[in-house]
Amino acid sequence: MTEVQTIAGPSDLHMHSNHSDGTENPGQVVRQAHAHGIHTMALTDHDRTTGWDEAAAVATSFDMTFIPGMELSAKHVWRSVHVLAYLFDPADAALRAETDRIRDDRVGRAERIVRNIGRDYELSWDDVLEQTTMDATVGRPHIADALIARGIVRDRTEAFDDILHPREGYYEPHYAPDPLTAVRLITRAGGVAVIAHPVTAGRDRMLPLNMIEQLIAAGLGGFEIDHRENTAAGKRALREIAARHDLIVTGSSDYHGAGKPNRPGENTTSDEMVARIIERATGTSPRYP
Ligand code: AMP
Ligand code: FE
Ligand code: FE
Ligand code: ZN
Repeated sequence: MTEVQTIAGPSDLHMHSNHSDGTENPGQVVRQAHAHGIHTMALTDHDRTTGWDEAAAVATSFDMTFIPGMELSAKHVWRSVHVLAYLFDPADAALRAETDRIRDDRVGRAERIVRNIGRDYELSWDDVLEQTTMDATVGRPHIADALIARGIVRDRTEAFDDILHPREGYYEPHYAPDPLTAVRLITRAGGVAVIAHPVTAGRDRMLPLNMIEQLIAAGLGGFEIDHRENTAAGKRALREIAARHDLIVTGSSDYHGAGKPNRPGENTTSDEMVARIIERATGTSPRYP
């Protein structure tokens, strides 16, 4: 168990930089969090940890607490499941091998999507590379940005509602572990696993209950409940499950810079829950000011 220093809220535990699909560098993300009154924040780029050092340094300069994090891609059959990981050991070999594999596969997959789109629209792989910083985890948001630059759509929202939506036929899946593997990898790396936005509308409701029970048995820490994409009914159901199993519940913005309307601090996590995450983790420590 890790000793916890006093937590200074408000805390926003889910933010993206341009090391994945956010539009700002890690330092700018921290500055935005600070400008919105956040005192404790986690950087949770998809499938990578390269933004931690820059974010931590800037957080310290603002007297903020920095919680190292990541949003690990997983999938249950075809349904994409995102698992937030906090305070794990970034050098853990098994977790690194898995994130390397996911990121590698995402590149070929993005190229396949672009090739599919290129049959009907003026779009090339070079257009996407222009929207991607050197070490970013490539995803559909970068393809969206290329479509915007080409004047084919207005913004990412329109791209996701239209060309990038699986129903349009251009979509391709990428490799991702199943949620059980994801939770085990995070937990074995000393981290705390929290399912991100578990009950969004449109996608097929919630993970099956028996799968949730399996994840809890495998060491799941909790659920991200206060997130703008969770449905009201889904939140109620999750709160009940969390209370029954004494799980951690979090709230966060899922900030992506200009890539999404989400603003820092629009949802926050209580000091008590932040402390529980820190106590439970053994992989690395928060960076206190
Ligand atoms: P991918 O993992 O490549 O399939 O892309 C999924 C990512 O796209 C998620 O991490 C979201 O952050 C982002 N995303 C999904 N829907 C939207 C949307 N409507 N507007 C902007 N970004 C979105
Ligand atoms: Fe994202
Ligand atoms: Fe997500
Ligand atoms: Zn996210």
